[in-house]
Amino acid sequence: MGDINKSKEEFIKELQELRLKYDSLSALMNAEKGFHLSNQNEYFIKEDILVTEEINNPFGKLFENIDEVFWIRTDDKMIYVSPAFEKIWGYSSQALYENPKIFTDSIHPEDKLFVLNIFETKYFQEKTLFDYEYRVIKEDKKIRWINAKSLPVFDNNGKVIKRVGIIKDITEIKLTEEALSKSEERNRLLTDVTIEGILIHKNAVSIDLNQSLARIFGYEKEELLNKDFMELIHEDDKFIVRENIDNEITQPYQIRAIKKSGEIFFAEIESKNFNYKDEKWRVSAIRDVTDRRKAEQELIRAKTRAEESDRLKSAFLANLSHEIRTPMNGILGFAELLKELNLTGDEQEKYIEVILKSGNRMLNIINDIVDISKIDSGIVDVKIEDVDINKQLEYVYTFFKPVAEEKEIELSFKTVLQNKKAVIKTDKEKLIAILSNLVKNAVKYTDKGSIDFGYAAKENFIEFFVKDTGIGIPKDRQKAIFERFVQADILDRMAKQGAGLGLSITKSYVGMLGGEIRVESEEGKGSVFYFTIPYNTNQPKEKINGKHLSLKKGIPAKKLKLLIVEDDETSDLLINIKLAKYCGEILHTNNGKNAVNICQSNPDIDLVMMDIKMPVMDGYEATRQIRKFNRDVIIIAQTAHGLTGDKEKAIEAGCNDHISKPIKNGNLTEIINKFFTG
Ligand code: ADP
Repeated sequence: MGDINKSKEEFIKELQELRLKYDSLSALMNAEKGFHLSNQNEYFIKEDILVTEEINNPFGKLFENIDEVFWIRTDDKMIYVSPAFEKIWGYSSQALYENPKIFTDSIHPEDKLFVLNIFETKYFQEKTLFDYEYRVIKEDKKIRWINAKSLPVFDNNGKVIKRVGIIKDITEIKLTEEALSKSEERNRLLTDVTIEGILIHKNAVSIDLNQSLARIFGYEKEELLNKDFMELIHEDDKFIVRENIDNEITQPYQIRAIKKSGEIFFAEIESKNFNYKDEKWRVSAIRDVTDRRKAEQELIRAKTRAEESDRLKSAFLANLSHEIRTPMNGILGFAELLKELNLTGDEQEKYIEVILKSGNRMLNIINDIVDISKIDSGIVDVKIEDVDINKQLEYVYTFFKPVAEEKEIELSFKTVLQNKKAVIKTDKEKLIAILSNLVKNAVKYTDKGSIDFGYAAKENFIEFFVKDTGIGIPKDRQKAIFERFVQADILDRMAKQGAGLGLSITKSYVGMLGGEIRVESEEGKGSVFYFTIPYNTNQPKEKINGKHLSLKKGIPAKKLKLLIVEDDETSDLLINIKLAKYCGEILHTNNGKNAVNICQSNPDIDLVMMDIKMPVMDGYEATRQIRKFNRDVIIIAQTAHGLTGDKEKAIEAGCNDHISKPIKNGNLTEIINKFFTG
């Protein structure tokens, strides 16, 4: 080691070498223990002497040129501080010589406690190297980060006599580090909060990834580091991934991937290659697109459905137009023929028969359309009442018996519940409509054999059936026939008349009653339609409407005085003709106001056939006014078929009953029977 008598130049040279070799004095500071004056550190002694004596200070010169602050002090006195001190602290060196406490006083308040504590331990207890980074406050109050290293210097007895230290301004490094860690943090945040999974990998083996990726796959992030991601790809899709990696494909593509739970999901991968330290790395954005795919597929399905429904609607309209035109043709054509002179009675009857049939056919279609529109607009009410299902079966049987006989088809029905038990709570009109539709179809699509209908009582529901030995329905159409418009679209359908709405209406009605409908059928052999309705057997309540209780049959005891209130001449004429045989006198008017007046001046009127839609005063209002002075006259509202709540409104206004237009003979006879015969 050095010699105390070395020349100044030698010192400098040696120190310079030392500095070069060990990065200035830090090398000295790396010693674990303090220096002993007696052995290796004569330099300091020498330097100490030089400084204190203020003679030709070689260190002074040496340290003038370095950025670090080098210092030597005793407990209470600053022996030497290099000029860099002024640069870092802003105070003059002189100030430090005068007040060595500047070192500790200037420590940033937030760091002070910690630094002084460490100082205490390192210096006075362990007597080891102090090497810490902390903040100091400059004279101008600005903050600097420093790295301070210092060691105690011992005398021969192991007593600390001095301390030496070196201080480095690390503000720039600190700020850069801080910025760096902030930006790293930001990047981490950015990648972690993205929903997308991000994976950096080398040939599918992961190097780094974000939280989202771990989340997508259901793993902890740590479990996926250094993992071969090929293991997480569905067996059948591995080759796609392999190929895309090999060919450095950047276009997004979709594959099936496997979560930790084993669940398979659809992932979209979009990647890019980049070079890192001469290695080819790949960064991949991975998204779970299962929901998106589902939504896309749903969209495609919806689009197809919409297109199909559009197509079906057009087909339906075309068919409908044909269905309406055909009977219309019959009506107009044969009405025209009737006008010809010299027709035989047979010919006339034949033509009239055609007109009647065509009219009925058209009415059916119009009824269907009205029903379907009502179902569509959600204005169909379900009126639950006590219904004797045996009676309804009988009613339907009676209704279709003549048509079946005409076609020479055997029609029969079965009831299994005793009459008392056969009363259930449901909507009578709808039940009849359902049964009628099914039996009507059975008759329509059966040319020989039999039709049998009835029901089986299950625990919670009743299952009705309508069985025929008709043409049957091909398997692939058995679902479609219940769909609206679908029938109209079937090109090879056995064209039998009908707009293909009946079953769709029937299905809606069954649904409204809380049941289900299905068909079992074999082509050429026949069909069985089944539908259920809940078996709800509450004891029937007594009916309140007294008038309805006593159905009288026969011919009225006396000729009636009738008032027809009707603004449409044809309808007026029709009623007139149909009721003439029961009447002695028939009065006519075409608005409600006149009707009120006529009733006032003719208290002996027995029956008023009241149209509802009329000018001046409508039928409801006229009825209300008539009821003010005449509670006995029977007023029957005539309503246009299909308008909701017509019947209720009529009864509410004071009518005894209502009939739907077009008025059929049967309806009028029923009215006469109901109110005037006995
Ligand atoms: P349509 O007015 O055409 O009869 P529906 O909706 O009542 O309309 O019936 C739809 C289609 O279902 C019919 O056109 C027919 O092809 C088929 N269908 C319905 N009932 C029967 C049945 N009992 N036997 C054979 N085919 C039937």
